[in-house]
Amino acid sequence: MDHIIQAGGEVIINLRNPNAPVAQGTPNAAQTPQEHGNDPSPESQMSPEDEVLYMFRVQVSAQHLISASPVFKNLLPTDWEETYLQNGPVEITAEGWDLHAFLCFLFAIHNKGYRTPRNLETLAKVAVIAHYYECRSALDNMLGAWLPRLQVTPIRCSRDMILWVWISWFFHCPVHFNHSTSAVMTFYDNEIKDLGFPIPPRLIRALNKGRRKAIEFLLTSLSETLEDFEWGDMGCGHECRRIVCEHLTRWMKRNGLDPVPEAPFTNLSYNAIMGYLEAFQIGVCGCDESKFTIFAPYSDLEEDIGGLHLPLYD
Ligand SMILES: [Zn+2]
Repeated sequence: MDHIIQAGGEVIINLRNPNAPVAQGTPNAAQTPQEHGNDPSPESQMSPEDEVLYMFRVQVSAQHLISASPVFKNLLPTDWEETYLQNGPVEITAEGWDLHAFLCFLFAIHNKGYRTPRNLETLAKVAVIAHYYECRSALDNMLGAWLPRLQVTPIRCSRDMILWVWISWFFHCPVHFNHSTSAVMTFYDNEIKDLGFPIPPRLIRALNKGRRKAIEFLLTSLSETLEDFEWGDMGCGHECRRIVCEHLTRWMKRNGLDPVPEAPFTNLSYNAIMGYLEAFQIGVCGCDESKFTIFAPYSDLEEDIGGLHLPLYD
């Protein structure tokens, strides 16, 4: 036995092909051996001896599996008790899961907190496993111990942001969900994708819509501001308008905003544009009227990308 979650447990889970990459689609877990025989992947060409080398055996308790997960319940033969009494532990198969994440998950559904996901990536994998076995609520009492060990939502465009969205959505953490969705829409500089995690498509659509809307609004406001300086009576006088227009036009060209980019705004984020705009905070002419960030569109835009509300995406 490679790992024992429950000594004397009635079930052995054979984890085959462990540590398959998660971000390239959900691992195809818990196939029966017959199904695996139809699988055209290279692993299915292995001899039984090779397969044993790529397999971990984990001993678990049938009662814990059944009470935590309807999927495990269906995987076990209905006569598992008699089979166990006659022949010893009943064997079932899982496939592709990250070993550490799978053990964290199994310990948790046995109410044993011996293993903690050591990073965000592992917790995301635990969530994928719990999603597959339909037993999120069985992990609820572990979350209080797991989450504080992890770093908070990053404030730059990164894969971790998507992991946070996935984890906070799956585990129903409204505050983390609000923060991470806000961060994604603010800092992401490309179209937002699920990276292979089972995030609901409508949530991904909402994030892309929020990000696009915020950037579009910022770009439109910027064009309107330029027009106001060019043709209106913004600024402290004629010379002020001329300087601001000149600076703004040059600045937009330099930052790829002229011609005005279009969705999906590759290599452009809301945060980056706001960062560029800080150059105008001091006012190019020196007067208060040429400070962009005091204008309404730029100072109250936060509401649009302030984060999504979890109950709407349950
Ligand atoms: Zn001025």
